[in-house]
Amino acid sequence: MTRKTAFLLAHLVFQTLFSQQAMPRPIQACIHPEALRHNLARARQAAPDAQVWAVVKANAYGHGIERVFEGLRGADGFALLDLAEAERVRALGWRGPILLLEGAFEARDLELCSRLHLWHTVHCDEQIDMLALHKTHEPHRVFLKMNSGMNRLGFAPLRYRSAWTRLNALPQVDEISLMTHFSDADGPKGIAQQLARFAEATRDLPGERSLSNSAATLRHAQDLAVKADWIRPGITLYGSAPDFPQHTAAHWGLRSAMSLTAQIIAVQQMEVGDSVGYGSSFVAQVPTRIGVVACGYADGYPRICPTGTPVLVNGVRSRTLGRVSMDMLTVDLSGLPDAGVGSSVTLWGQAANGVELGIDEVAQAAGTVGYELMCALAQRVPVVVQD
Ligand SMILES: *Cc1c(COP(=O)(O)O)cnc(C)c1O
Repeated sequence: MTRKTAFLLAHLVFQTLFSQQAMPRPIQACIHPEALRHNLARARQAAPDAQVWAVVKANAYGHGIERVFEGLRGADGFALLDLAEAERVRALGWRGPILLLEGAFEARDLELCSRLHLWHTVHCDEQIDMLALHKTHEPHRVFLKMNSGMNRLGFAPLRYRSAWTRLNALPQVDEISLMTHFSDADGPKGIAQQLARFAEATRDLPGERSLSNSAATLRHAQDLAVKADWIRPGITLYGSAPDFPQHTAAHWGLRSAMSLTAQIIAVQQMEVGDSVGYGSSFVAQVPTRIGVVACGYADGYPRICPTGTPVLVNGVRSRTLGRVSMDMLTVDLSGLPDAGVGSSVTLWGQAANGVELGIDEVAQAAGTVGYELMCALAQRVPVVVQD
């Protein structure tokens, strides 16, 4: 060993033994594998005869593919649309089915499909053209998508059969499954019209069927006239109700898979007429004790949430006051004399005492849906997986 390497080694040992890690800001997201397992079981219960695609697109709806994998590995397959994410699922050791929900974006994507044994959606003529030119030793399993009324992806009902015939003639294609997606499974319009179009246009075609997202699975699984071989739940797995506020996550028996928690880092006593935060949007009408929380819109908490958005302080329901700023927000500590600096604030999810604040309630206050909030959790928030 040269003197230089000896010095470097000693330096390294010293560093690892004695250096202090910088303390992170007191904010953290926690992923709950037990809740994921529970929610997956709920989806199965709603469609007991179907196989389950666990939809893990958008980095598992913001939860992190690697972090949800353990909780969702009981699924029959994983569905997503980003090829890099498909590689990550394979890298975790998953040998079962993976479905690309939007299929190939360009010809070389099909090489990855061959190499990683990805099943892929075919929704347009261009994708059939690419397949026809693709060189592969093993034919691909494809999901042929029908546009039954959503008007995003898929072949119109009248063109579906000819697409099927063309695909079926390709040596690159193995089994063809039939698929569509509902636009109104969560609302009053329902799925009847799209379902009728799909049933009519696929009547005597062979192949497995995949129709239902979370809302269709929870709300319409019983009245599905078409046998559903594969359901595609996403949002329910993460513990948000697809049809909030008509139904809550609790109504569907779902549990939050993510908790966002921060601490109070300062306390202020407001007198009558005092205001808090940018724009002085909240003015105290009575003397009010408030807590300043280490969470802001740069963490993914929506800036648009108004005064009154629910939070849990030490597991007790309270509300935000005034504007959300980049790194902080303020909460009402009225009636919470024990709360102070260091107290835990749950922005959504589960508090230590077991009380839950559904992400859907916060989303509603922000005029959006739980999906958007979980997907927008910011990079700077440290995430842990509960053990
Ligand atoms: C995202 C997606 C799903 C899952 O939808 P949820 O509402 O989260 O259950 C299902 N199918 C397709 C085609 C999707 O893109």
